[in-house]
Amino acid sequence: MKRLTGEIALVTGGSRGIGKAIAVALAAEGAHVWVNYVSSPERAEAVCNEIRTAGGSATAIKFNVAVPEEIDAGVETILKETKKITILVNNAGITRDGLMARFSVADWDQVLDTNLRSAFLTSQALLRPMMKERKGAIINISSVVGITGNAGQAAYCAAKAGVIGLTKSMAKELSSRNIRVNAVAPGFIDTDMTSELTPEQKTLFLKQIPLGRTGTPDEVAQTVVYLASSAANYVTGQTIVVDGGLSM
Ligand code: NAP
Repeated sequence: MKRLTGEIALVTGGSRGIGKAIAVALAAEGAHVWVNYVSSPERAEAVCNEIRTAGGSATAIKFNVAVPEEIDAGVETILKETKKITILVNNAGITRDGLMARFSVADWDQVLDTNLRSAFLTSQALLRPMMKERKGAIINISSVVGITGNAGQAAYCAAKAGVIGLTKSMAKELSSRNIRVNAVAPGFIDTDMTSELTPEQKTLFLKQIPLGRTGTPDEVAQTVVYLASSAANYVTGQTIVVDGGLSM
């Protein structure tokens, strides 16, 4: 039995990395998945093709989650076609690393807009139809560094900590409409985002991970599938850490 048959999901930043794994995993459980991207239609289309080849259904949709008007237009396009969205995964994110002393306001804004404001605005754009359905699951992708902090990542950590506060507030506000809101906080996952770390930085990280290895995008995706499914019907406002024990 597939766990998400009949559900319509939107995964922001679904064209690569963790978002791609989430899109593929939700589709494997029977959901129709809208795969959002910003820069590469080829990659998003490749994800949709992979899903279709495996027997699932998916559609690519471009919008920049850092631009409010683009979010509204993207959500409107989806709702025109599929009428509802029952699962939203706010996954799109970027990092801009640098010590505070030299960190620009422009970079701060870009990081906060892409990682945090985007989750608020995309959820807000979907609220009416979700409330009408009296059913929904929203999963926000945070990060362990939103819990622990990290030198050189003040903006990113602030955004990811904000995602956790947003998740709890949304959960309290939307529970009466049967909309559950949870966060997932990954640790060190092998994607384009972490590929720029130097071998020395990677070795240092690995030493701190009790399970002794980096995580895979699919290991994050399986937690998202759980939170989206009826197995998590009594779970809301939570942050599930998927980090091999790094933040213990
Ligand atoms: P990634 O490989 O860099 O992929 C980022 C994804 O986000 C891409 O699909 C990209 O689309 C999309 N994206 C970026 N900016 C966007 C925008 N303005 N509008 C729409 N889409 C946008 O990143 P990842 O490692 O998979 O990370 C996914 C999420 O997990 C992020 O929120 C990240 O902060 C979080 N996270 C990652 C790790 C890790 O170790 N990797 C750890 C903790 C948390 P295009 O392909 O079109 O550019």
